[in-house]
Amino acid sequence: MSDCLFCKIVSGEIIPDVVYESDNVLAFRDINPQAPVHILIIPKQHIVSLNELDTGHSIVIGEMYSAAQAIADEYGIKSSGYRTVINCGDDGGQTVFHLHLHLLGGRALGWPPG
Ligand code: 5GP
Ligand code: ZN
Repeated sequence: MSDCLFCKIVSGEIIPDVVYESDNVLAFRDINPQAPVHILIIPKQHIVSLNELDTGHSIVIGEMYSAAQAIADEYGIKSSGYRTVINCGDDGGQTVFHLHLHLLGGRALGWPPG
């Protein structure tokens, strides 16, 4: 999608700090990190939000969580713990409407979220 920020990252029009890439998934550092490790994991295909997912997306969703596990291992937070979050819609706090999984770790995270 031409006006989507994360599609511009996938196409190379905007160059992020990439930490992981596979055929279907790209992961890069969040520009405004909320924890020592804050990575965004996105499908390369444009999917607006969790609301648009169906069973046809099961492989790419599986790859996003596999990426989260691999990145957590690489950044040394696999055993200390971390959080994965998908914000959906306005009340969920979604601001970029291209599906993304937040991977947060490197400090004790509060619960419940605000
Ligand atoms: P959301 O609020 O939609 O769940 O998360 C969007 C995330 O994208 C935010 O954490 C925000 O900091 C991040 N973000 C917004 N613009 C950019 C950008 O241009 N580059 C990167 N790397 N992250 C961005
Ligand atoms: Zn997009």
